[in-house]
Amino acid sequence: MSRLRNRTALVTGAGRGIGRGIARRLARDGALVAVNYAADATAARETVTLIEKAGGRAFAVQAELGGPGSVERLLAAVEQGLVERTGAATIDILVNNAAVTGFTGAMPDAVTEEMLDRCYTVNAKAPFLLIQKALRFIPDGGRVINISSGMTRSAVPEHIAYAMGKGALEQITRHLAPVLAARGITINTVAPGVTDNGDPVFRDAEALRRMAALSVFDRVGTVSDIADVVAFVACDDSRWITGAFLDATGGTLLR
Ligand code: NAP
Repeated sequence: MSRLRNRTALVTGAGRGIGRGIARRLARDGALVAVNYAADATAARETVTLIEKAGGRAFAVQAELGGPGSVERLLAAVEQGLVERTGAATIDILVNNAAVTGFTGAMPDAVTEEMLDRCYTVNAKAPFLLIQKALRFIPDGGRVINISSGMTRSAVPEHIAYAMGKGALEQITRHLAPVLAARGITINTVAPGVTDNGDPVFRDAEALRRMAALSVFDRVGTVSDIADVVAFVACDDSRWITGAFLDATGGTLLR
């Protein structure tokens, strides 16, 4: 527990699923983690408790990203939480994980303007604004990590609205990389494939078999599979990687 000792991290959407896994892993590596969530305070508290029971440090911060002023409210709460615990408001690692998901069944002809707006607002606009406004808290040598999806590199028509938002998120990584490099800050995209986030669908044997078959390893991903990749991009060993797309799909894109 030393790779990220004396570092701090903000993980959006860390109340459950992959975000919780990332928060737990960064905390295990020594970081103090701000656990952002939208609505489920109980789940976020549970993330914090799991981290504390493992000897780590974390605190929960409510903010539903996407609404007007939400980024500012999130950063104000994170700043307060960090100052209380460390005496400074430094965010060494920012992980943009929160996203609108679950538009299954919305084929292109059924996609609504509202869906497009929501996917773009939460999955791309909010991460951009969060990076832009968090930069004053991110020190030289800091890390920004955007969680995208393998769906930007495959063709899944029923997820077109979601994939469009994630495609925009990946442009943030690419176009900000040279700007942030001036301060030694790296920014990278990590793209999971199908990952067991605790949703009941992963307990359905037939659905699980079909999802597993997408990966060359013939299984679905675990949150640890993704969190371990994020932990690498968050630590000093990844200093020479920026603007990159890290395929964490278990070889799904090779199919
Ligand atoms: P999840 O289980 O649905 O959890 C989503 C988390 O994000 C929750 O903690 C939720 O908070 C929070 N959240 C949702 N909307 C938010 C908002 N507007 N503002 C702040 N927090 C918000 O998600 P997941 O499956 O772990 O996915 C995590 C990331 O991986 C997402 O970026 C997703 O696109 C990506 N991904 C997932 C998979 C997969 O198979 N699971 C595959 C590829 C990519 P509340 O609990 O408070 O609602």
